[in-house]
Amino acid sequence: MEHYDLAIIGSGSGNSLVTPDFDDWRIAIIEEGTFGGTCTNVGCIPTKMYVYAAEVANTVRDASRYGVDASLSGVRWRDVRDRIYGRIDPISVSGREYRAHGPNTVLYEAHAEFSGPRTLRLSTGQEITAERIVVAAGSRPVVPDEVADVPLHTSNTIMRIDALPRRLAILGGGFVGAEFAHIFSAFGTQVTVISRSSPLLRHLDLDIARHFTEIARGRWDVRLDAAVSSASAKAGGVRLDLTDGSSVEADLLLVATGRVPNSDRLNLGAIGAQVRADGRVVVDQFQRTTAEGVWALADVCSPHQLKHVSNHEARVVAHNLAHPDDMVAADHRFVPAAVFTHPQIAGVGLTEEQARADGIEFVAVTQPFGEAAYGWAMEDSTSVCKLVGDPSTGRVLPAAHPGDVVRPGFPRGRPRPVLDPPGAGRGRRERPAQVGCRLARSPSTCRTRCQASSVAALSYVSGRSSLAKPCAAPG
Ligand SMILES: Cc1cc2nc3c(=O)[nH]c(=O)nc-3n(C[C@H](O)[C@H](O)[C@H](O)COP(=O)(O)OP(=O)(O)OC[C@H]3O[C@@H](n4cnc5c(N)ncnc54)[C@H](O)[C@@H]3O)c2cc1C
Repeated sequence: MEHYDLAIIGSGSGNSLVTPDFDDWRIAIIEEGTFGGTCTNVGCIPTKMYVYAAEVANTVRDASRYGVDASLSGVRWRDVRDRIYGRIDPISVSGREYRAHGPNTVLYEAHAEFSGPRTLRLSTGQEITAERIVVAAGSRPVVPDEVADVPLHTSNTIMRIDALPRRLAILGGGFVGAEFAHIFSAFGTQVTVISRSSPLLRHLDLDIARHFTEIARGRWDVRLDAAVSSASAKAGGVRLDLTDGSSVEADLLLVATGRVPNSDRLNLGAIGAQVRADGRVVVDQFQRTTAEGVWALADVCSPHQLKHVSNHEARVVAHNLAHPDDMVAADHRFVPAAVFTHPQIAGVGLTEEQARADGIEFVAVTQPFGEAAYGWAMEDSTSVCKLVGDPSTGRVLPAAHPGDVVRPGFPRGRPRPVLDPPGAGRGRRERPAQVGCRLARSPSTCRTRCQASSVAALSYVSGRSSLAKPCAAPG
């Protein structure tokens, strides 16, 4: 039986663990799917490349508003697809090659599960042991029983289809559904979004989610508070009967009803590692599971399911493996997130509803983006920026530990946080008005952190309704 210093299950975020700190360790990486995992192959990277092409199409459609005459004469789906995968696929291939033939790494292309403490059984029939094991097994799309028997796509498959559908039904009103609705509708597909609840994107601040839903209704056929009661395959498509009595016919069905951690496929019972009711592996602040010598990171244990959080946790685990006597805790206080739909949405910190539920005193202000200079110049009539802050300090309300916003800079050699908190390491507190002014004055800040062309939910510092006055739009 082969023995390793470290075994890693999953080559997504798990692959980035292998830093020069481990040059003298023997490392096994076990991957059952495409090398590189979700983000590279079927997640962040290809979706954002499609989103960019969708933005180009929409920009052409809107151009005449600004005195630029242009017309969209077509979208060459196969060319869009092949450009994207022509760039992505080689990354996976070269990453695989590098690990398969690395000086201190061995790649097992197999399914792994635990057969005992620090022992993995592989689907090839091999068994390996390791001093430390990192579970970075990710998550997978959920497919509800109601549609399990009809032809369907998930985010794993829809980006590789051969032709644009004329009509696409998307089951699910979360961020994956919203991003694909934008992509396909920008390319000319008629999109129907079916959401069991309302509004769409209900994990966001409620005002922002409602605002987005109103805008989405103008672009797509949006069915809210409707579940699928039955589904049937039709010639060249599907028919969905909904619980509200209506039905939807489409050429393709995309199921985007959430993702579950892959913890149920690891036989974690063999090592006594605890798992939450929602399938996430239980970890402590150092990313250690409850089983000795076993660590976990990213989607298999995180509530965020975001790549930058995964990367942060990978840095934390790498540090803690290399420095067991000087471990660092993962920091999930400042987690920014974006939805690359249309309009784009970005946010960081507590939503108004979370602040209310936690009994936290807060102030909130919502400002139309068109009242700031850049939004005014764009004639943006739909976007808003919402700020939620602590009235006593004027600081952003972080998502986890509201009392603990101000803290010193990060010591050298320690993993970086997901997002530096405002003022971190600068030894001063930022005044609310300064933050607000910077937000509104800088197009690049607004475009990347607030929003690119529309709605933004930036839970941020406020406390003053005059927040953006110095930067208000002309007139
Ligand atoms: C459509 C989509 C768009 C996204 N867009 C964004 C975005 O814009 N920004 C963002 O921050 N995040 C985004 N995400 C989320 C992001 O992709 C994930 O949070 C991140 O990739 C999770 O990394 P991971 O290492 O946990 O999982 P993965 O990257 O999936 O890696 C897990 C690997 O483990 C392998 N594996 C699982 N079980 C076993 C086993 N038992 N044996 C062997 N191998 C196993 C799997 O095959 C997989 O390759 C998106 C996700 C999706 C689905």
